[in-house]
Amino acid sequence: MLVMKFGGTSVQDASALRQVASIIHNHAAEPGGVVVVLSATSGTTNTLLSLAERAGRGEVISDELTMLEVRHSGILSELAPQASHTDLNELLHECRSYARALQILGECTPQSLDHMTAFGERLSTTILSSALRANTPSSVYFDVRTVMRTNDEFCAAQVDMHHTRSLCSQHLAPLCASGSIVITQGFLGSTSDGRTTTLGRGGSDYSAAILGAALSAREIQIWTDVSGVYSADPRYVPEAQPITELSFGEVRELALYGAKVLHPDTIAPAVEALIPVCVLNTFRPEDAGTRIVAHTPSTAAIHAVSIVRGCSLVQCSVATAAHIRSVPELGRSIILESETVESAMLVLKISGDDGILALEVAITDTEVVIQPTSLLAVSGPHVNMPIILAEIAASISAFTIRAITTGAATHTIFVAVDELQSNEALRAIHAIIPRHR
Ligand code: ASP
Ligand code: MG
Repeated sequence: MLVMKFGGTSVQDASALRQVASIIHNHAAEPGGVVVVLSATSGTTNTLLSLAERAGRGEVISDELTMLEVRHSGILSELAPQASHTDLNELLHECRSYARALQILGECTPQSLDHMTAFGERLSTTILSSALRANTPSSVYFDVRTVMRTNDEFCAAQVDMHHTRSLCSQHLAPLCASGSIVITQGFLGSTSDGRTTTLGRGGSDYSAAILGAALSAREIQIWTDVSGVYSADPRYVPEAQPITELSFGEVRELALYGAKVLHPDTIAPAVEALIPVCVLNTFRPEDAGTRIVAHTPSTAAIHAVSIVRGCSLVQCSVATAAHIRSVPELGRSIILESETVESAMLVLKISGDDGILALEVAITDTEVVIQPTSLLAVSGPHVNMPIILAEIAASISAFTIRAITTGAATHTIFVAVDELQSNEALRAIHAIIPRHR
């Protein structure tokens, strides 16, 4: 069986949803069924959050609700002109009543925020299943709150994996076994006494990973609006390409050091269950995307170069380094360090004026060099091989390199480069990648 998750831009309008429907159709014969996990239409979660807060302050939000209704009804009409609007209208009515209740109560608790934002995913899934019902008899709407059991930390609820697993075997596995295409919500959960919770912003990927693990899916597909995880940010490196295959370990390191990829914690349940996760493009479904697996047999030396901008490289004594580490605000912002018996080098990513002030205070009366730096993280299965290190060093010999650190991470080496030269250095290292594909 297969879990397919579609993000907010993949369900944002009728034309995107048409793509989604066709992708689902192509997988309809999947043995063991398909679970389709949807996000809310793009922007809707934010809209609902702000509407709930405003209603809780007693404001009238009728016009905004009308806009939400018009958008969602419009999508269904355009997507499937013959489809019944009964379920959608019922849900829109429920949403309006709930907002009205908040307005009368004049308060909005975290619990009400979750109940309100949940309408986003409930709407997108209702639209898709109403549209599919006509020509895909095997599709069924499923309320994920039946199986996604959480605690009552509203807005960032923790999933109870044990109960979720057994509820999935009880309620969801039989549907899948009968070959159904199950349409359900990402992001939502429920406490054991039936109150709606959410798993935290962007939580739909996590939902997909949990359902995939609970149902022993053969694969979890994350459908989005880019063709996978790129070898570098295409805004700075136009020649960047999607990486065909990545290991779980590499993804973790990539995400830690600036690459815009799936947050590794969100796919942790898949990693644990050794289920491959594929990142695919809804708008270019023929693209190969990126497959994230436990171990890659890849012979590539380097897969990606990512960048953390706006760092401060601090060269100081061991004692000063210890002091910097002990200031909580600074300690938290250290992203790389290396130390000898006498001296130390720290790379800090400090945010805000308070942090800069804290650093200035920490180093008063000491001999310290601080330099504005970008940290490049070069990652790949064989990036630590001496011959590759030599090649990387040669590629950036023309730049002001403040540090190169190897051996600290399994799949990543770090290059601290003068802030002003960082884009050029990024491209220079990236140019090595095609030589080793
Ligand atoms: N709709 C939710 C959000 O925007 C969850 C998700 O899209 O993953 O945060
Ligand atoms: Mg979203």
